[in-house]
Amino acid sequence: DSISNYLRSHIRTVPDWPAPGVQFRDITPLLQDPTVFRVLIDAFVARARTHKPDVVAGLDARGFILGSVVAYQLGVGFVPIRKKGKLPFTTVEETYELEYGSATVELHTDAVKPGQRVVLVDDLIATGGTMMAGKKLLEKLGGVVVEGCAIVDLPELGGSKKLREGGLDVFNFVD
Ligand code: IMP
Repeated sequence: DSISNYLRSHIRTVPDWPAPGVQFRDITPLLQDPTVFRVLIDAFVARARTHKPDVVAGLDARGFILGSVVAYQLGVGFVPIRKKGKLPFTTVEETYELEYGSATVELHTDAVKPGQRVVLVDDLIATGGTMMAGKKLLEKLGGVVVEGCAIVDLPELGGSKKLREGGLDVFNFVD
């Protein structure tokens, strides 16, 4: 639809970054334009509001930029899910497989209380591994992840399909 096309036209594809053969979707042009940024955040907020979340969780690092503004607009708290070694307090952690090797993400043990409804935010879903790890972390603390939201889903990688099969509702603007 029109919002998808509008947002898509402000996402830049950078070839061969960070490695040869990778087509990196760069959302910085979208953040940089105040009108587009507002359209994006308003759409995220309208969507998230329908789930009546208690908390918004953002995935390191672009999920922080988006998720914190969504949380602010909804009047709920924001919690960061970070790459291992960055959070100072006690954490739960989750390790997941990447194409080459693995990655570990962490969440503070007091980030959500059992039964709290959480909307999970990131910029982009590729294989879905990062978002699934985020869901597992939140669930370790008893959180209820009501939806995973991203600007972009790269459908050829099957990430959102895998997430839905794993029990996470997924929403994205751009395929
Ligand atoms: P996944 O775990 O394979 O789904 O990869 C998604 C994670 O990697 C997200 O946190 C994204 O920010 C990041 N990522 C992977 N590919 C891209 C890209 O092309 N543009 C921006 N971020 C990406």
